Amino acid sequence: MPDSATLRPGETTVELPPAADAQLRFIGRIRTPFKTRADCPRQGSADGPECRVEIDPILEPALDGIERTDRIELLYWLDRSRRDLLTQSPRGSGELRGTFSLRSPQRPNPIGTSVVTLLRREGPVLVVRGLDCLDGTPLIDLKPARCDQAERRREAAHQG
Ligand code: SAM
Repeated sequence: MPDSATLRPGETTVELPPAADAQLRFIGRIRTPFKTRADCPRQGSADGPECRVEIDPILEPALDGIERTDRIELLYWLDRSRRDLLTQSPRGSGELRGTFSLRSPQRPNPIGTSVVTLLRREGPVLVVRGLDCLDGTPLIDLKPARCDQAERRREAAHQG
């Protein structure tokens, strides 16, 4: 059940048709010190607390080489969101905006993304900084951040 089930004045919803199954599988879980939405920052920051990205141990070999990158992009499932909002009033400001014009967690497919700093790897666990999600948020995917990849290519070209 979403922990933000109440509507703000003027917000509108839609009755959604049944979901087509995209066959997503969660690859792990994110552990953060944020227990409630009120504890969470709206976006992660470089000086935020250490968080643990726990990858399913059967997928651990898929992390090989991840330490070569400092910045990682995480995609996660904002599982306590409502999914039927068409328009929203950000922070209860009274102004109404369309869901797709916002980075609100309330959206038909509640996917959040953050580029985080990798501090260290402990087996199947990545210790990172820069997250903004609730403790226990399911992880969908992770990959090197784009700027990190570009930097490595430039370095390789420089050395070669
Ligand atoms: N950085 C991501 C993005 O831009 O796609 C997420 C931004 S969203 C504004 C972050 C907010 O989502 C948090 O401040 C919190 O209120 C809410 N949130 C965090 N984890 C959540 C979860 N598991 N389910 C529902 N809402 C969540």
